[in-house]
Amino acid sequence: MARGPEDLANTLKRIDGRGYRAYRDIEGSYELPTHKLVIDHVQGDPFATPSRVRVVVPGAQTGFDSSLYATADRNRALCDFITRVAAAACARETQRAGTGRSGVISIDTPGPEILERTSVNIGDSGLEARLSVGLPAAGRRVLGKKAADMLLGRVSSVVTSSLFLSSLDESAVARHIESIEDQCALREQLTDRGLVAFVGDGSSLPRRSGVDPRPMTEGVVRFRSPESLRCEFTLPNAGTVSGMGVPAGVTVIVGGGYHGKSTLLRAMELGVYDHPSGDGRELVATVPDAVKIRAEDGRSVRGVNISPFISNLPLGRDTVDFSTDEASGSTSQAANIAEALEYGTSLLLIDEDTSATNFMIRDQRMQELVAKDREPITPFIDKVRQMHDELGVSTIVVIGGVGDYFDVADTVVLMDAYLPSDATERAREIASRHVNERTSEGGEAFGRVSRRAPEPGSLDPRRGKRSERADAKDRSTILFGRTALDLSAVEQLVSVSQTRAVADCLLLLRRRFMDGELTVSELLDRLDELLDERGLDALSRFPLGGYARPRRQEIAQALNRFRTLSVRQLS
Ligand code: ADP
Ligand code: MG
Repeated sequence: MARGPEDLANTLKRIDGRGYRAYRDIEGSYELPTHKLVIDHVQGDPFATPSRVRVVVPGAQTGFDSSLYATADRNRALCDFITRVAAAACARETQRAGTGRSGVISIDTPGPEILERTSVNIGDSGLEARLSVGLPAAGRRVLGKKAADMLLGRVSSVVTSSLFLSSLDESAVARHIESIEDQCALREQLTDRGLVAFVGDGSSLPRRSGVDPRPMTEGVVRFRSPESLRCEFTLPNAGTVSGMGVPAGVTVIVGGGYHGKSTLLRAMELGVYDHPSGDGRELVATVPDAVKIRAEDGRSVRGVNISPFISNLPLGRDTVDFSTDEASGSTSQAANIAEALEYGTSLLLIDEDTSATNFMIRDQRMQELVAKDREPITPFIDKVRQMHDELGVSTIVVIGGVGDYFDVADTVVLMDAYLPSDATERAREIASRHVNERTSEGGEAFGRVSRRAPEPGSLDPRRGKRSERADAKDRSTILFGRTALDLSAVEQLVSVSQTRAVADCLLLLRRRFMDGELTVSELLDRLDELLDERGLDALSRFPLGGYARPRRQEIAQALNRFRTLSVRQLS
């Protein structure tokens, strides 16, 4: 039997002034005139994680035509739009009064990337939004009247102002969906066109600051492709767009300090995601499996074959099955690449600013002073072509200080006062005039990519008595059982909601799939399959609104940073 708003109001009246735990009595669902209110979980006290509440509007009443959510991309776009509107409504309807989180209404709020999320779900049966609600308290006592005003009044206002098509700007909804559809189409066409990245003319790449990802507003130089690299794409909604196509192969971005090299690379790192219009990067697209590679000294490495880059370590340490609790700059960068090749990528993105110099280059003079057999590192410059020619993995590398890279580049882009030019011919000409006498140290072939089977027993999810737990403390920290994972160097992880999902993906991998036989790559295939089929809800036993979908690349990077991980290498 369906309960109505009066039932909720009566219960709240009854428990008014009682201990906070009495709020448990309101759990359950209520039929309201405009929507169903489902109180899934009531927080234990006013300071705990807020209560989980869902609001559901039946399909027929929302006004959204099924064409607006018929494909996965459109669905993601529409849910993103609604989430953003709902987030603004929640902020308006939040009235802090009382202890702890009393009065707070919130929904997981997207940043500048448009991700598959669980905050809002839409289908033929209806539209559901998942909110967090801080049930009001004075001290630790129930404030029944305030709670009634909140759940029946202010939450309802959020519903009416964001979950019906009639309350939204319909043309803005359409534009948002069309823009995302275009971005997906653009990204999908890259490979067929022989490209790994595209930066549209007119794009605005710089951000306000390192900690503020909103677009820079003043003094922005908009992107303009060099003629020789310009290409056009026909998109389903926007029609023809033009911009710089970065061909597969080895691309070197050069230019003076402060001329916009890192900003361009960062935009390409995030080009694996879609962006809302106005962000400035709506027309930046990168192949979806692109991985940013950097040095990360101090990270742990477990059973990785880094021998393509590092061999003959002092004291005869093994680099075919290499483990360390404390990698150096160069070994960590080598491991990051070796792992990326294992979990799957077709494009590496590397910035000199976050690279180990001795990993990137060993010049002629150093080769003469320090003999090859005294230097464990084979520099990246001698491997980058093999990776492309043998493994089909392209690289875009920012390097302002080392012209030796001209010898291995297919394309050289020169950034000058934030504008790119095509310096490929000139770099070639310079390279032929100043013949480089350094010796290539890359050997005959790239070498072997690891295939590792993780041991499930090496990941311990227990925390306290028997309970298995993994959660995200912030964007860059996961607590898995009692083990902390530092993901601050996983730079394409953009939201704490993704980190939260990564934590539960690891838990699920450990519980469901890891058997000591399946390889990292096979495990990720299974997981992707499950998430494609069942969505992010497969990660939890309860409906949670705080997940955003991570790529397999980020899940793998988290797994690889487990200090306790043990693996078996398969040949
Ligand atoms: P580099 O890597 O070449 O040293 P950065 O990409 O770090 O240079 O950029 C240097 C500064 O210039 C940054 O503060 C950045 O925000 C700003 N910047 C980058 N691109 C642009 C642009 N297109 N227009 C205006 N400012 C920019
Ligand atoms: Mg830089």
